[in-house]
Amino acid sequence: MNIDICEITPSHIRAIFPYAPGKPISELERELGIRDIVKLASNENPLGTSPKALEAAKQALLDAARYPDGNGFELKAAISDRYGIPAESIVLGNGSNDLLELSARAFLEPGRSAVFSQHAFAVYSLAVQAVGARGIEVQAKNWGHDLDAMFSKLEDDTRIVFIANPNNPTGTLLEKEELASFLKLLPSSVLVVLDEAYDEFLPPGYASNSMEWLSDFPNLIVTRTFSKAYGLAGLRVGFAAAHPNLADMMNRVRQPFNVNSIAQAAAIAALSDTAFLEKSRAVNLSGMAQIREGFEKLGLEYIPSFGNFLSFRVGHAQGIFQRLLKLGVIVRPIAGYAMPEHLRVSIGLEHENEKFLSALQQAIEEVK
Ligand SMILES: *Cc1c(COP(=O)(O)O)cnc(C)c1O
Repeated sequence: MNIDICEITPSHIRAIFPYAPGKPISELERELGIRDIVKLASNENPLGTSPKALEAAKQALLDAARYPDGNGFELKAAISDRYGIPAESIVLGNGSNDLLELSARAFLEPGRSAVFSQHAFAVYSLAVQAVGARGIEVQAKNWGHDLDAMFSKLEDDTRIVFIANPNNPTGTLLEKEELASFLKLLPSSVLVVLDEAYDEFLPPGYASNSMEWLSDFPNLIVTRTFSKAYGLAGLRVGFAAAHPNLADMMNRVRQPFNVNSIAQAAAIAALSDTAFLEKSRAVNLSGMAQIREGFEKLGLEYIPSFGNFLSFRVGHAQGIFQRLLKLGVIVRPIAGYAMPEHLRVSIGLEHENEKFLSALQQAIEEVK
């Protein structure tokens, strides 16, 4: 039996170009039959998971026969405590990806549009496309968001502006004042989804004010994740904070049990493990310095980053990427972000960064 894909699949779904995740270690092992692979491709925490979170996850596993708490009472209470926001303002997500999709599902539809920046996180355009809405991509400025240009591109039917701060894959950060004036300028019919997946890595003076802004801006949705600094990427948990009315709408389109019980328990424990978070920051800081120094020695241009990754220019990026794979190092090609000459590397442990840098030097010589 033949099926006519064009007939059964709406054109906005057929137009989707799937997200390209970082290559899993197990896949490269299968392909090349090599061991000791270093994966610096998905901005994961090189320290692994907080021991407290692991312990909590193991305990929760014992109760795996039960459905999770669909309202995430305890995790919301812990987040509420930590960030000083009411539980009614919190939406839990199966990773913050889920929350980006929930915001698109709740507030967009065909005939509406969303604005995001060139080189911004790929999931924004995917989430917008999946609901049949129109994405408006605005040219970046110095690899970062150009808020003036984004404001000028708003259309009458625009309902969401997505902002990644810091942005992935460029690592750029908007200043608080800039963001605050943008929020003040925006009509209240336009929501801002402020994606702060890397917030925990910001140096003290740069820490975000977004949780305080929530009371001033009822059109603001802040998203955070446990995947990066908290080291829980494999468990899939994140949260959004927004005016309770917005949170209510997002909760209506959420799967009833979108965050599993193991992830909930681990996230609660991770939130309280400030020592682990401190260590993650410190390892990131020193690893960032190590890799920047390595790039400078190799004479490579890179974009200074506020996240746990760096994007650097190598010219023939696909060739270098392939050479690095053969040498047992996985980084991330970002041609899909309109950066065909760049690669992105996540900051790893000292010996991983070392291996990456020497493999990179070798790859560059071989590809010349
Ligand atoms: C990694 C990342 C996320 C979220 O990932 P989840 O694992 O789904 O929480 C969101 N936004 C940006 C910009 C990211 O880099």
